[in-house]
Amino acid sequence: MNVRAQLVMVFNLDKCIGCHACSISCKNIWTDRKGAEYMWWNNVETKPGVGYPKKWENQEKFKGGWLRENGKLRLRALGKGPTLFNMFFQPNMPKLEDYYEPFDFDYGNLYKAPTGSDQPVAEAFSQISGDRIDKITGGPNWDDDLSGSQLYAVEDSNLADNTLVSDYGRMFMQYLPRICNHCLNPACVASCPSRALYKRGEDGVVLVDQNVCKGWRFCTSACPYKKVYFNWQSGKAEKCIFCFPRTETGQCNACAHSCVGRIRHVGVLLYDADRVEEALLKPDDQLVAAHREVILDPHDPEVRESASRNGVTDQWLEAARKSPVYALVKEFAVALPLHPEFRTMPMAWYIPSLSPVISSGGDLHELADHGTFPLLEKMRAPISFLASLLSGGNEEIIADVIKKQIALRLFKRAGNIGQPIDDSILKNAGLDEAGANKLYRLFTIASYRERFIVPSQQREEQDSYQRKGSSGFGILKKTRGAK
Ligand code: SF4
Ligand code: SF4
Repeated sequence: MNVRAQLVMVFNLDKCIGCHACSISCKNIWTDRKGAEYMWWNNVETKPGVGYPKKWENQEKFKGGWLRENGKLRLRALGKGPTLFNMFFQPNMPKLEDYYEPFDFDYGNLYKAPTGSDQPVAEAFSQISGDRIDKITGGPNWDDDLSGSQLYAVEDSNLADNTLVSDYGRMFMQYLPRICNHCLNPACVASCPSRALYKRGEDGVVLVDQNVCKGWRFCTSACPYKKVYFNWQSGKAEKCIFCFPRTETGQCNACAHSCVGRIRHVGVLLYDADRVEEALLKPDDQLVAAHREVILDPHDPEVRESASRNGVTDQWLEAARKSPVYALVKEFAVALPLHPEFRTMPMAWYIPSLSPVISSGGDLHELADHGTFPLLEKMRAPISFLASLLSGGNEEIIADVIKKQIALRLFKRAGNIGQPIDDSILKNAGLDEAGANKLYRLFTIASYRERFIVPSQQREEQDSYQRKGSSGFGILKKTRGAK
């Protein structure tokens, strides 16, 4: 057992209202400068839709992530041959039109325009060339509010049931906030010929060393989530840094702090680095279970002892024990990794959306039907869609989570109107009363200090760590913080 600690974020998709407070707070702090105008380290896209950059999920096109081949993992597009060839040209990297041409408005004209018979306007101009843009044709969430429409939904590779696209009555829409997943097997780190990217030993955060980056852009191509960006001004790669200057002082990330919907939880997970590769070699539909197996019980004395040997401090072990993320990912198993089949083992986890709750099959009681849950396939947001997004196509895993959400709602509703709940509903969803109350608190009224349990780091301690760096398959030499 080789126990490591990782800072992790969980998103409850049911609660995201698409307000973009997270994106704006991130942009103001980290990417409000030349060359970074088009970058949204935190972005919120609308599903079903094409996302940002457009169609990022299509690995036939962008060739990101890992492939399972002859019992081994290999980067999809970057074998030995193409590596040399691609030093100066990345054929699979998204182009500016796949993101969008960043623009601003000439607000000064509203004040400076000469007096005339027309109202002055603030025209759009390109933040790259400075030229006027007559017609804006893209943005970081261009699909917003139209995502369910024929135009955009049909482009979403997760929506197998295209009949929905022609039937507005059945269409649905939800938001999907995204940051870098700070993966346990990061394709960005493995692909960098300069070793500029690394995974920090102390908290698992994946960073780019700006002094080492040579701008080869392999990382941008290799990341299947398209969460490494190329700064056209500096010629270097940039990405989400999980707000490490904040987390090191025990504060949660700016995106999580500003989240209006309170959909985010941040905490520590302990995991076994020696089991990452084995887990990633499982077939797609077994990957979620394999991911969960890699995550260890922070209450287990053997796990704690092994973690201590690797330099995890008592403060971090305590945080791991209280971690809201552990409760959601492992204890209740309601949070799932985004596209596990990309095989980077992402460490941002998502609770699938239950809403809109009314299905063509009826209301929640009918859906639960004394704990038999017979009508899940008639949910408005199709189980197959959520499975494609969050479980490598395994519909059973999604159904298990949805059952818990339905049972929880019925349980609390019954409590609120003073009626007993049918026991079989909680039981068949894998919950008991104490568990349902704990989960309800996490889903709804958990305070700041319950949603975010981020242990601070003391540099002096980090420097004396025995921690070997880590984490995951194929990157041992690319992790800093090692002794
Ligand atoms: S999502 Fe994973 S592969 Fe992509 S940049 Fe982040 S750590 Fe790297
Ligand atoms: S701030 Fe929260 S609720 Fe608003 S878009 Fe971001 S994740 Fe969603």
